[in-house]
Amino acid sequence: MDSQYLPMSEAKISVLDWGFLHSDATYDTVHVWGGRFFRLDLHLDRFFGGLEKLRMTIPFNRDGVAEILHNCVALSGHRSSYVEMICTRGASPTFSRDPRDAVNRFMAFAIPYGSVANPEQMQRGLHVAISRTVRIPAASVDPSIKNYHWLDLVRGLYDAYDRSAETALILDMAGNVAEGPGFNVFVVSNGALMTPASGVLPGITRRTVFDLCAEIDIPAVAGEVTVDALRSADEVFITSTAGGIMPVTVLDGRPIADGKVGPVTRQLTELYWRKHEDPNWS
Ligand code: PMP
Repeated sequence: MDSQYLPMSEAKISVLDWGFLHSDATYDTVHVWGGRFFRLDLHLDRFFGGLEKLRMTIPFNRDGVAEILHNCVALSGHRSSYVEMICTRGASPTFSRDPRDAVNRFMAFAIPYGSVANPEQMQRGLHVAISRTVRIPAASVDPSIKNYHWLDLVRGLYDAYDRSAETALILDMAGNVAEGPGFNVFVVSNGALMTPASGVLPGITRRTVFDLCAEIDIPAVAGEVTVDALRSADEVFITSTAGGIMPVTVLDGRPIADGKVGPVTRQLTELYWRKHEDPNWS
């Protein structure tokens, strides 16, 4: 926290912190696989972009943050971990209601890597429900700032659990597919990929899928993804730092295509994990 390394149990913030009271914070998460960070530069770009848009400052530059993250991983002892960096607005020493008076706080932690999907789910594909809660742009402020405005996503998750699904996909106000709690979504139709273009976090794993598609000549575009396109897709998968590329085979209780993990999803997943061995991608 700030300039100190502490055991997790001693890392505390004030109840008056604006991050806690008003969700006035930004963060990023990056994963470390076999001791190596994956696409750290892209995560730092997004984090520093968020700080600038929120007019927050931290006393470290990119190299400084990268060094702290490496130290967190080394101190944690985990070879594969999930590393989160956070900046909150902080608290105002005078209790003022002016955000400019708050003292911004920086913190980071490394915990063992635990994928969103377990090995069995990766084999058979996730069961997903379309949530009845919409992704509210006003709550997301600017979806390109990675934020903790998750009330719609969390309600979506409960809605999905109520219907025996494992996770949720949330629609935007126009009724098109947006994203899910912590992931972006892709549909594969006739050998081409499509992912929602706007109103979603520009995920680094989403970006990685575009990079992989360019390498192996699979067409991929960002555009409007309708619920019909989702239901009639040949394959669906979701992407996140916490889980990589994860197949979805059941939507609202019905199989997608033949209900099996498709060949494009398999190919991209394999390539994605192979890139973790490639120093050019760290
Ligand atoms: N959308 C939302 C709302 C998220 O919170 C996340 C990750 N936390 C993602 C998408 C996926 O982004 P990334 O691939 O960078 O992890």
